[in-house]
Amino acid sequence: MLTQIDHIGIAVKNLDTAIPLYEKLLGCVCYKKETVPTEGVTTAFFKCGETKIELLAATGSDSAIARFIEKRGEGIHHIAFRTDNINSEMLRIIKEGFKLIHSEPMEGADNMMINFIHPKSAGGVLVELCMEK
Ligand code: ZN
Repeated sequence: MLTQIDHIGIAVKNLDTAIPLYEKLLGCVCYKKETVPTEGVTTAFFKCGETKIELLAATGSDSAIARFIEKRGEGIHHIAFRTDNINSEMLRIIKEGFKLIHSEPMEGADNMMINFIHPKSAGGVLVELCMEK
C-alpha cells in the first residue's frame, strides 16, 4: 500500500534562483541540498506540512532532468508516494500491470530507497515509490 504523498518533484534549470523562489513561496527555508550521482541530479528539499517539495536540477546535459526541461520546460516532474515496504509494493504494482523503471530499488535523495513507475503505464504521470531507509 502507498501510505501518503511523500513529496512532489519539480524540475528547475537553476537551484540558485529556484531555492530563494520556493523559500519565498512556502515561507520556509530549504533544509537539505543533495546530489544523487546515479540519477544525475542535485536536489533541494523543503517541508510543507507532511509533504516535501523536491527541486531537481540536472548535473549535466545527459541527465533525465536536462532532457525533461528541454522537452517540456521547468515544472512538475513527478509525484512520490511513500511505502513501508518498497519490495512488496514493486511486486504488487507489477502484478497490477504497471511498468517499473528499475528492476531493483535504487538509492534516492533524502535517505530513501526509490523506484519509478513508467509514465506511459500511469496515465502520463511519473510516479515515484519511496521508502525511508
Ligand atoms: Zn523524488
